[in-house]
Amino acid sequence: MIVVKVGGSAGIDYDAVCADIAARWKNGERLILVHGGSGETNRVAEALGHPPRFVTSPSGYTSRFTDRQTLEIFEMVYCGKMNKGIVERLQRLGVNAVGLSGLDGRIFEGRHKDSVRAVENGKVKVLRGDHTGTVEKVNTGLIDLLLAGGYLPVLTPPASSYDGVAINVDGDRAAAALAVALKADALLLLSNVPGLLRAYPDESSLIREIPAADVENYLEFAQDRMKKKVLGAAEAVQGGVRRVIFGDARHGQPVSAALGGQGTVVS
Ligand code: ADP
Repeated sequence: MIVVKVGGSAGIDYDAVCADIAARWKNGERLILVHGGSGETNRVAEALGHPPRFVTSPSGYTSRFTDRQTLEIFEMVYCGKMNKGIVERLQRLGVNAVGLSGLDGRIFEGRHKDSVRAVENGKVKVLRGDHTGTVEKVNTGLIDLLLAGGYLPVLTPPASSYDGVAINVDGDRAAAALAVALKADALLLLSNVPGLLRAYPDESSLIREIPAADVENYLEFAQDRMKKKVLGAAEAVQGGVRRVIFGDARHGQPVSAALGGQGTVVS
């Protein structure tokens, strides 16, 4: 089993990702696709007059502050436009894909964090009304049913809180939790960069290999959102996934290239 997470940043070639996945699926490989949608969500939120608000925690992690209205816009884009766009591409390629959020069948479950500590103008503030959380539990029952029926699952945040409330969760870490739960052979984190760069944005500074035991030491190279990918990679390898690869989803055959060792390989 291979878990492929494809991001939501500008430049990602979803046609290339879907064509590669379809070819491998038809060859008998079992795959699950997890996707994001942050770039498109930002555009739609601006257009709807509710621009995104990003907050930085005291430890330096950036996240989207998700009030109820933001959550609804987030769902429109992630579960609607992005998810159905990917399912349609796969269907056109002859793959019977099914798109679901983490809320459906409670595939992704975690604790609802209502408040977030954020650094603003050098001061730490507590912001309330946040609909976020972290995936702590993956319920694989529905996924097992789909795979047994020959359907390719296409999954996206939000997740469900233990009380059934929709929560915005990080897609990379959700994919990592899924890979652990399914005992996947590999987790691919595909984005609009060649992999983890030692000197971002210099693409010639690509880090090719990271020993699994050392992955957390590489957090220092990752800025802002890339940190979540490194954290997800650490969680996946600590949970028993043998290989995590940060790969390029901008062109070519992104899944095959990453599985062939291009990008940053954590093992
Ligand atoms: P996605 O939505 O595609 O999952 P993110 O935007 O969450 O991706 O994270 C990937 C982004 O992280 C890259 O587009 C890049 O701008 C940024 N980044 C920060 N530090 C690094 C680094 N050291 N190497 C590669 N990318 C980095």
